[in-house]
Amino acid sequence: MHVLIAGGGVAGPATAVALRKIGVDVTVHEARPREDKDVGLWVMIAPNGLSALDALGLKETALRRSLTGAAGPSGFVPIRRVALYRLLREAAVARGARVEHDRRLVDADTTADGVTAHFADGSSAVGDLLVGCDGIRSRTRSLIDPAAPSARYVPLLNLGGFASGVPTPGEPAQLHFVRARKGFFGYAASPRHAVWWFANLPWGAEPSRAELAAMDRAVLTERLLDAFAEAPSFVRDLVRATHSDLYALATHDLPEVPRWWRDRMVLLGDAAHATTPTSGQGSSMALEDAVVLAKCLRELPVPRALARYEQLRRERVEGIVALGARASAAKLDGRLPDGSLDWVHDYRIDWAAPV
Ligand SMILES: Cc1cc2nc3c(=O)[nH]c(=O)nc-3n(C[C@H](O)[C@H](O)[C@H](O)COP(=O)(O)OP(=O)(O)OC[C@H]3O[C@@H](n4cnc5c(N)ncnc54)[C@H](O)[C@@H]3O)c2cc1C
Repeated sequence: MHVLIAGGGVAGPATAVALRKIGVDVTVHEARPREDKDVGLWVMIAPNGLSALDALGLKETALRRSLTGAAGPSGFVPIRRVALYRLLREAAVARGARVEHDRRLVDADTTADGVTAHFADGSSAVGDLLVGCDGIRSRTRSLIDPAAPSARYVPLLNLGGFASGVPTPGEPAQLHFVRARKGFFGYAASPRHAVWWFANLPWGAEPSRAELAAMDRAVLTERLLDAFAEAPSFVRDLVRATHSDLYALATHDLPEVPRWWRDRMVLLGDAAHATTPTSGQGSSMALEDAVVLAKCLRELPVPRALARYEQLRRERVEGIVALGARASAAKLDGRLPDGSLDWVHDYRIDWAAPV
């Protein structure tokens, strides 16, 4: 069996690693060039995501390459997004998958037992299955269902950066939050006061790419200092001491995608179910998807494997997307998100168990 994967972010290479574990031949086709420096700041891998990495044999590598070198006190692991992408791609290649860059999926033709994927550079590839790991603006999603929904705007602007030299309260390597009248701030720190932080500011209308690009560092810094004017002073000190880029990103989610698969094409990760960053679960869900899809393909023929994968995953991930939407709304109107998150974080996949 030869599987074509569109997208080399989190879900794509993780799926490649999982499929190599069951002996499947895999090629990852990633739209970006090989040197993709601009892939955002940092993400938290949640305990359930770390467990999925363990099933892929990558937990120790992820811990080693994390910002803290180990899981924090509550089991979360902060890692630069580019480090997570790289470790997954390297693992995929080390296990025998091919990763091709500058390959943007634009179209696909399916037959009863195969698929041909077409790329923007005019090339094409033939396989038994196309796995769409091409993110929140997935092309595969609209190839599966031309009426598929697009991402929904959530009126929050995400900002973030790396700072150092500012002492912060609270246990190191643990995510801490500061709620202010005009914004929401989160941070984690190393014992030596290297700090990685994010901020959410209410942002009514969806900013265009041009508007986001026009928000230079000085403008963003002013907005942050104003939003957190009444917060403890270390928040403003962190903003001023930031030595990395200040990323500004609009927030989106994707609550329900009616069709996850058709014929020989299937969706994974943000392509199928994107949550707001507030849930801290997007990468972890993508990692879980990868493990579950490989287990289904290990035991069942296509398309039964795709139906079983959807059955095992849909309720959980849609529950998490709904949770992320509620938590984002709570940020906007000053409430604290409620309810236990144990069902999210305690989820474990037994690789050996049948599906
Ligand atoms: C500000 C922010 C903070 C976040 N914080 C967290 C966090 O703390 N914890 C967490 O778990 N998650 C977090 N997330 C979510 C997380 O980043 C995503 O859920 C995760 O990256 C999803 O992985 P993916 O592989 O599905 O999509 P992506 O990581 O977006 O990867 C998709 C890949 O597909 C490629 N691609 C796109 N179109 C095509 C095409 N047509 N052909 C080929 N390739 C294509 C893209 O270039 C990209 O490399 C955050 C997201 C944001 C925006």
